[in-house]
Amino acid sequence: MDATKPTMKLAVLTSGGDSAGMNAVVRAVVKAGILKGCETYIVREGYEGLVRGNADDARAEKVHAPSYKEVHITDTTFAHNLRFGDGDLLRDGTSDHPQPGQRTLKGRYIVRVGWDDVRGWFAQGGTLIGTARSAAFRTHEGRLAAAYNLIKEGIDAIAVCGGDGSLTGADVFRAEWPSLVTELKEQGTITEFQAEAYAHLKIVGLVGSIDNDMSLTDLTIGAPTALQRICEAMDNIDSTAFSHSRAFVLEVMGRHCGWLALMAGVSGGADFILLPERPPEEDNWEDSMCKMIHGHREMGKRKTIVIVAEGAHDKNLNPIHAEHVREVLTERLGLDTRVTTLGHTQRGGRPVAWDRILPTLQGVEAVDALLESTPTTPSYMIGVRENKITRVPLMEAVKMTHAVTEAIKEKDFVKAMSLRDPEFCETLEGFHATSVHESQPRLPHHQRMRVAIMHVGAPAGGMNAATRAAVRYCIRQGHKPFAVHNGFPGLLDENVHQLSWLGVDNWMTRGGSELGTNRKLPDIDLGGVAAKFQQFNFHALILIGGFEAFSSLLILEQGRKHYPAFHIPMVHLPATISNNVPMTEFSLGSDTSLNALVDACDAIKQSASASRNRVFVVETQGGKCGYLATMGALAVGACIVYTPERGINLDMLRNDVKYLKKRYSLDIKGRSEGRLVIRNEVASDVYTTEMITKMFKEEGGKLFDSRSASLGHTLQGGIPSPLDRARAVRLSLKCMSFIEHHHDLLLKQPGKSKVAPPESAAVIVIRGSHVKWVPVQDMVPHADMVNRRGKENSWSKTTELVEALVARSQILAKD
Ligand code: ATP
Repeated sequence: MDATKPTMKLAVLTSGGDSAGMNAVVRAVVKAGILKGCETYIVREGYEGLVRGNADDARAEKVHAPSYKEVHITDTTFAHNLRFGDGDLLRDGTSDHPQPGQRTLKGRYIVRVGWDDVRGWFAQGGTLIGTARSAAFRTHEGRLAAAYNLIKEGIDAIAVCGGDGSLTGADVFRAEWPSLVTELKEQGTITEFQAEAYAHLKIVGLVGSIDNDMSLTDLTIGAPTALQRICEAMDNIDSTAFSHSRAFVLEVMGRHCGWLALMAGVSGGADFILLPERPPEEDNWEDSMCKMIHGHREMGKRKTIVIVAEGAHDKNLNPIHAEHVREVLTERLGLDTRVTTLGHTQRGGRPVAWDRILPTLQGVEAVDALLESTPTTPSYMIGVRENKITRVPLMEAVKMTHAVTEAIKEKDFVKAMSLRDPEFCETLEGFHATSVHESQPRLPHHQRMRVAIMHVGAPAGGMNAATRAAVRYCIRQGHKPFAVHNGFPGLLDENVHQLSWLGVDNWMTRGGSELGTNRKLPDIDLGGVAAKFQQFNFHALILIGGFEAFSSLLILEQGRKHYPAFHIPMVHLPATISNNVPMTEFSLGSDTSLNALVDACDAIKQSASASRNRVFVVETQGGKCGYLATMGALAVGACIVYTPERGINLDMLRNDVKYLKKRYSLDIKGRSEGRLVIRNEVASDVYTTEMITKMFKEEGGKLFDSRSASLGHTLQGGIPSPLDRARAVRLSLKCMSFIEHHHDLLLKQPGKSKVAPPESAAVIVIRGSHVKWVPVQDMVPHADMVNRRGKENSWSKTTELVEALVARSQILAKD
């Protein structure tokens, strides 16, 4: 490839309502674009910036635009792109009044950017390149101007990050593009050569929206942060509601989509939720709401939380306002009720870890999709299914999203729900199963079970939420849930007690392990464990924990040969901050700890930047699994990551020092930043955090200095993240249906002594885009039992991405 010729001239814009994570999209698209040899641009103020273009060539003038060839003879070598930006072009907003030598933005909406322009954009909320709702772009004239401005700048590809409106705009623009080019040619505004060269516009969409309202993707960029803000507010309200025995009605955003309200309801343990796509079925829904809340109060609940989505309505589409709910609760139930409208606080603030990781992965995928685009391929929207980044035809996603709105308008709520992704429907079922207390158990006596729930290993965010969900579900069905405290030693000590519906009420928001957890495996006394299973007459077991829980399940399953008490359904729900359970890409708690890591690293980076030229070596937990260090490094933009899988050796360290020296020497004088290095605490026994820090300090000389910070147990996080809580509920309920299914199969076996098949002892895993059950025996070939981690991992390539996004190889290759 000719290094001086761009493979593509690529622009990125953010449009519609702002959302956290949009800056990470811009950063990823710019960086990935540069790495793939593109010339990169940002468009300020969304589509409005495209319509306005750059003032230095008046739109009305007949422009002698450079020919295609001329446009492309530009230096796109990495060295040029690195130097191109001064790192402050857009960030400090002063560029409309530039210092001598500084670039100006005045009257320029399409701006060339380089590597350092987008450095450190992770931690900032909103969008630094500006967004707008452009009326002009909705018109043919506006889009004609936009097409002209793109061709004038020689741009042939755009990445649009915005909500469904923005992506509809992208789709309209692409569909209209050929006729816009013809029109410009006929007007004589562009040359024939240009018309030919720009006959095809490459467009890709990334969904930036706090509502999570786009079909064909599980999560939109900004939704996790908005949910985090809502849950923080709810957690604060919770204590005051409890203290005064009050009711709170919380209004959250979501005009056509109840995702935020639903997820907040599940994660915050609300009593009642009102969503646009599933309004209450009754005409007099106020009666049923009051009946339910009254029931909860009768049981002894001291607080009541009702969540109302902004677009909530009854089944006849009459809007339901928070104020109306307040009046009903006050007048009918005599509750001291307050309304809290969260409004724009939901949009703001620093992005959570997942709103840095997801936009980064999606931004990189977006550039690949553009590079692979041909006139015959559809424009793609970049989405995500469970843990898999996906490409779906933009038009299809937009059409399906609009279909939901249409179905709601037509009062076809069954259709509206069917068009939402399966996770949405499962979460709604989960909400009903865990929030509504029913007076009559659903199952007949013979199907009811005594279910043991145990936490094994170290605490992780979401363990208590998963337990609460299992307990509530058990009670609704008629099962008896038993807490086994302190793991297997607790069982041997008969530290077992039955859990109640109200007893677990506040467990959603609690970190750590309410049951008490223990690392000891059942083989400390397998016969004793079997005897206790028999004594307590357990019909099923749920183990919540990390690698130890997996190992325990394996031992119990193998113990079936000798102990009939283990011939019951047994499941393992992975929960560990290390995320080291084989075959699963997610464990409960890993999101919480990534957020804790991001919070700590943001603060450390600030300090490192304040002192300029400082490298912080940050030590993380994670056992012999590098997941937390690697994903954390991606989420904070660390420049080096040390994991146990790769280990550390002298050659690596020599190269790392070389990289840091070159990187600091390339910084603009007085503009150096702090940089982060993440080291898993057991990455090497010899090259410790202290030793590496001292070495960097010694080698850095006048260029940079070094300090260390150990995050230790802070990474277990305080309050579990909403994503961990919601995932805990969903997976826990799947565990319950699994054990009910296998219990039924055992009941159908003739005779008294039952034989549980191997598949009835299984682990629930997330792999790619699927949630699956894997029999524990089948996990063994995938497990590295010595290092206590999976043999393969889904994130191994992320280390390369961390290094690519700091241009390690390009910088090392520089003279
Ligand atoms: P949010 O979800 O936050 O509302 P959004 O992207 O849906 O974000 P909109 O205001 O609907 O926000 O759309 C953003 C911009 O996209 C509009 O201001 C307009 O410029 C453009 N746009 C939307 N719909 C169309 C359309 N049908 N044709 C052309 N442009 C459109």
